[in-house]
Amino acid sequence: MKEKPTKNPIAWVNTIFLCGSPIAALALLVVYHVQGSWHWADIALLAIMYMATGIAITAGYHRLYAHNTYDCSPLIEMVYLAFGAAALQNSVLHWASDHRVHHRKVDQDEDPYNINKGFFWAHMGWIFYDSEPDLHFDKVPDLLANKLVCWQHRFYMTIAIATGFGLPLALGFLVGRPFEFFLFGGLLRVVMVHHSTFLINSAAHYFGRRPYSLNNTARDSWWLAFFSFGEGYHNYHHAFQGDYRNGIKWYHWDPSKWLIRSLSWMRLTWRLNRASDERILKAMMRTALAKAEEPISRLPEEWATSFSMRMDECRARWHDAVDVLVEKREEYQVWADSTKALAKRERRLLKIKWHAQIKEAKQRLVIARAEYALLLHELRLQPLAA
Ligand SMILES: [Zn+2]
Ligand SMILES: [Zn+2]
Repeated sequence: MKEKPTKNPIAWVNTIFLCGSPIAALALLVVYHVQGSWHWADIALLAIMYMATGIAITAGYHRLYAHNTYDCSPLIEMVYLAFGAAALQNSVLHWASDHRVHHRKVDQDEDPYNINKGFFWAHMGWIFYDSEPDLHFDKVPDLLANKLVCWQHRFYMTIAIATGFGLPLALGFLVGRPFEFFLFGGLLRVVMVHHSTFLINSAAHYFGRRPYSLNNTARDSWWLAFFSFGEGYHNYHHAFQGDYRNGIKWYHWDPSKWLIRSLSWMRLTWRLNRASDERILKAMMRTALAKAEEPISRLPEEWATSFSMRMDECRARWHDAVDVLVEKREEYQVWADSTKALAKRERRLLKIKWHAQIKEAKQRLVIARAEYALLLHELRLQPLAA
């Protein structure tokens, strides 16, 4: 149900900048076009600055600082802090503090970007009003102990202007295109990164599927992941906020995950947290089974009882299939770690045997899921109770 947003006094600087920057960027883009200034270097700078500042927010502000899903070297932290400031979304301390409240109180009144107060409120409306600032930062004591984070908080505006606008302008003077580089690397890029982040607070709580949890409004959608460096798998993220990945399949578009993982090969990131396969598979099973509860409750009583019994049998088979698969994967890992000294050929043959067993366990899981899908289909065809 849509709740009325709480109205604090208007934060004029935020409001004027958030409304004025897209208009100014558009107007300057028209001037740029009329002057016939199109050049590949401007687009390249826009792409580089969009990626640098966008990923500093997703891999840095979000996954490193707000959720502590991995550790990284101070060098990488400096890059995150400099380019994250350039995204003009406040200091890490403020950002992470708001975001931790969002996770703890999601969809409730205390949630700063509560979607139940409307799409526009969650997108950017909440920034138009002064919120009671958490001056003691009691949600982020770990970050208060980080000297680099405190340095960024202290000099936030200077760092933001120097990296976000000073850097493109300086590069522009070097190549003789100061106006063009300022527009593409500074103003237009800020507007684009703003709205790609804002979409995660609005659209990712509005459009898409909920395969891992029905406990909140967060949803998974691949097209949002495409604009936001992987943050669109938001249902997964709210269910497993300690995981450094948001898209868990190898083909899920999640450049932030790829960056964090690649940096670990160079020993620049480490302690990459992942939710266990068992927890993920069980969350998917619980969510799928919960989706049948409401249609069952609408059946005539005698059918509801028999369907519930069949559902329980299905749940038991599904449970077993998950247990067998998880067990096989764990056994395989123990085997793989303990047999590195085996002869190459022998190891390869045994590996094929293990993979066949895991494949069989996966097929069992697919059959259990298909049985459930059939049952759900049958359930939806039943006439409802009067
Ligand atoms: Zn989060
Ligand atoms: Zn969220």
